[in-house]
Amino acid sequence: EELNGSLFMKQVIEDYRLTLHSEVNIITHIDNTGILLSADNFYLSTAIINLLNNAIKYGGRTLVVSYGIIKEENVHHITVTDDGIGISEKYQKYIFDKFYRVGEKDTHNFKGLGLGLYYTKQIIKAHNGSITVHSRVNHGATFIIKIPIV
Ligand code: ATP
Ligand code: MG
Repeated sequence: EELNGSLFMKQVIEDYRLTLHSEVNIITHIDNTGILLSADNFYLSTAIINLLNNAIKYGGRTLVVSYGIIKEENVHHITVTDDGIGISEKYQKYIFDKFYRVGEKDTHNFKGLGLGLYYTKQIIKAHNGSITVHSRVNHGATFIIKIPIV
C-alpha cells in the first residue's frame, strides 16, 4: 500500500492511546513529510505497537515517538523511546532473536515469550528496512526503524 507516512503514524498513535491507562504519556514528533510510505498498514502498525507495548511493559511512563525522513539515506525514520529499565549493552544484540528474553530480572516479573521483537524485525525486514536499539540500563531505550523511500 502507498501510505501517507505522517497520517499513518498519527493514526497508529491515536488508536494506541485509546488502549492506554492514564499514567502513560506519549509525546509525538511527527513531521509532515508528504512522502509516501510504501508499507503494509496492518503489519507495520503491529510492529510499532509491539515497540510501544514493550516500552510500557519494561517500565516506560513517558514515551516519545518520532517520524520523519532522512534525506541523505533516503529512508523513513521512526523512533520509539521510553524511560524504562533499559537493556544492558551485552544483551542488545540478542533481543531480536526468536524466544530471546533478557535474564537478569530478579526484581521484576515480566511475562512473555520473547517473540515480540523477533516478529517486529521480520516485519521491518519484509519492508527492506532495518531496526536497531540504543539503550543504557536504567535510562530507557530507543528503537529506530528505517524504511527505504521508494
Ligand atoms: P513477548 O513480546 O513475546 O510477549 P518479550 O516482551 O519478553 O515477550 P520481546 O518483545 O521480543 O519479548 O523482547 C525481548 C526482550 O528484550 C525482553 O524480554 C526484554 O528483556 C527486552 N526488551 C524489549 N523491549 C524493551 C524495552 N523497551 N526496555 C527494556 N527491555 C526491553
Ligand atoms: Mg514484547
